[in-house]
Amino acid sequence: MRGLDDLDVKGRRVLVRADLNVPLDGETITDDGRIRASLPTIRELAGRGAKVVVCAHLGRPKGEANPAYSLRPVAARLGELLGQEVAFATDVVGDSAQATVRGLQEGQVALLENLRYEPGEESKDDAARRAFAEKLAGLADLYVGDGFGAVHRKHASVYDVPALLPHAAGGLVVAEVDVLRRLTDDTERPYVVVLGGAKVSDKLGVIANLLTKVDRLLIGGGMAYTFLKAQGHEVGGSLLQEDQLDQVRGFLGEAAKRGVDLVLPVDVLAATHFAQDAPHDVVAATAIPADREGLDIGPETRELFAGKLADAKTVFWNGPMGVFEFDAFAGGTRAVAEALIGADAFTVVGGGDSAAAVRKLGLPEDGFSHISTGGGASLEYLEGKTLPGLAALED
Ligand code: ADP
Ligand code: MG
Repeated sequence: MRGLDDLDVKGRRVLVRADLNVPLDGETITDDGRIRASLPTIRELAGRGAKVVVCAHLGRPKGEANPAYSLRPVAARLGELLGQEVAFATDVVGDSAQATVRGLQEGQVALLENLRYEPGEESKDDAARRAFAEKLAGLADLYVGDGFGAVHRKHASVYDVPALLPHAAGGLVVAEVDVLRRLTDDTERPYVVVLGGAKVSDKLGVIANLLTKVDRLLIGGGMAYTFLKAQGHEVGGSLLQEDQLDQVRGFLGEAAKRGVDLVLPVDVLAATHFAQDAPHDVVAATAIPADREGLDIGPETRELFAGKLADAKTVFWNGPMGVFEFDAFAGGTRAVAEALIGADAFTVVGGGDSAAAVRKLGLPEDGFSHISTGGGASLEYLEGKTLPGLAALED
């Protein structure tokens, strides 16, 4: 993969595919971690005299302009963090984009409107995607792929544009790939993976592959209930994916066969309903009342998990242990995060919500070896899949 050093950027228009998909509450950015992660590459290019044209997506506007998904607030925040004005184009490849790019001087930065306003960006039809990619490529002389959180998408801005322009990987993508390599090749042991979050189905592929690599697999969060149910326990109103039960039973068998220590919660915080202030009790994971739902791992589980992490040499964590957005159910996620911080290990946090949880809980980001900006992308890499956005940067 070529890096930024391999491009001669002075005076050239450089299209940077960044990942600026931040959580928004109205027009307020609630976590700007991904914008911060995009800064080094943009700064370097601007500092070397490029005309920097940043493109990115936000949410799922599904191929139509929709002000609820405008990148305008992101342009403002990006400008504040860079300490220089960021020109904002109100369309992706239309008159505004063209005029904005024409107006750039060396060292200046522009942001195009949300790529996903254009149906070509995500189209499954190669020709439609390619047609949009040609328009996007027409705005620039060079391409830099730095949107790690999107490299698992076969989208025009990720996959097709690099085939049309001289290209290189940005510093963020290079750093992320280096970390993921350490999680897949010659990993230092004990290698412990902690998985949580809402849906088992999102993470089935990675579980299957990790079972062949890890020493311990700790499962918390909403996905734990499908595992508990697969073991024959009732889970009340907790998150449950009935259609995944067979697969999960297979994982339990596979783990036993391979000698992987697959650890499930032994107690949970069982709430009367899904709310910040819902009354709740600690109950055994094997005795969740029918009218309750588990919204966090319990205190015994926190200790159990911390013990399994204490002597780890490599840890990958993806997915909160509970509904951390509610303070009352954030304790399990905090406990796991603190155990990672305390471990004398190479520790990696993956997943947008997990990274947001670390920051929301006020934990030091430098307490971890690496906080990945890409959830789906890192999971697919660990699954052993070829990521279209990385493959496109290879040649
Ligand atoms: P990431 O973005 O880090 O990959 P996910 O998107 O898979 O994580 O999952 C995050 C979501 O999982 C959070 O919004 C959190 O509230 C939810 N979650 C975690 N535990 C539970 C639970 N027990 N019940 C319902 N939702 C849960
Ligand atoms: Mg998520």
